[in-house]
Amino acid sequence: MTEVERRAALDAIGAEVAVCTRCRLHQTRTTAVPGQGTAATEVMFVGEGPGFNEDRAGLPFVGQAGSLLNELLESIGWSRSEVFITNVVKCRPPENRDPEPDEIAACAPFLTRQLEALDPALVVTLGRFSMARFNPGARIGQVHGTFRAADANSGAGGALTYAMYHPAAALHQTSLKDTLFKDMEGVPSALMDARRLRAARASEAARPAIAQSSAALTPEADFDPTNHSGLF
Ligand code: SF4
Repeated sequence: MTEVERRAALDAIGAEVAVCTRCRLHQTRTTAVPGQGTAATEVMFVGEGPGFNEDRAGLPFVGQAGSLLNELLESIGWSRSEVFITNVVKCRPPENRDPEPDEIAACAPFLTRQLEALDPALVVTLGRFSMARFNPGARIGQVHGTFRAADANSGAGGALTYAMYHPAAALHQTSLKDTLFKDMEGVPSALMDARRLRAARASEAARPAIAQSSAALTPEADFDPTNHSGLF
């Protein structure tokens, strides 16, 4: 997919999200929040769901947690304009409660399609609901600051995931702020590992084709008197 095609796919998903009524969250939202960011990125940040400010603005991570995410990105020399940011559910759960399993399931196809459109090398999960989507069964207290392959059923089968606490957690528990900044330091190297994994897979996938083309260059093929393709 070209960057233009990716942008078009993301915009089409956003237009569907804006009018979606698949789950009860549409009844209480002000504005759906599909996601924000460039279509030319290798990195996707996935949070839990919109909060009060996001619901008003229609944009992800624009409140206090969003300011902290901006600071975290700046701490490694990145900016949010270089990544794509979205959530597991695209509409605000009332009173910022946890999203229910049926709401997550109803919204899952949108995230899957965003992943297909962007095909990110690295997915940074923010919080346990996002982590559970990509690495079911993992415990955030044990895996934050580490990367692993995304579950094949997550929609990001070819990506690495890097687990972090949700920035909002540090607003309630200030000791987590240092942890978030320390974990963020590992994101660039996780991206390097994700790139290496991709390159290794691409080279493995190309191997049968190389073997096939080598087979076509057997001495018999070279000396086939009816094969003149190499001469023209
Ligand atoms: S949370 Fe997702 S599935 Fe539910 S109404 Fe919003 S966009 Fe639709």
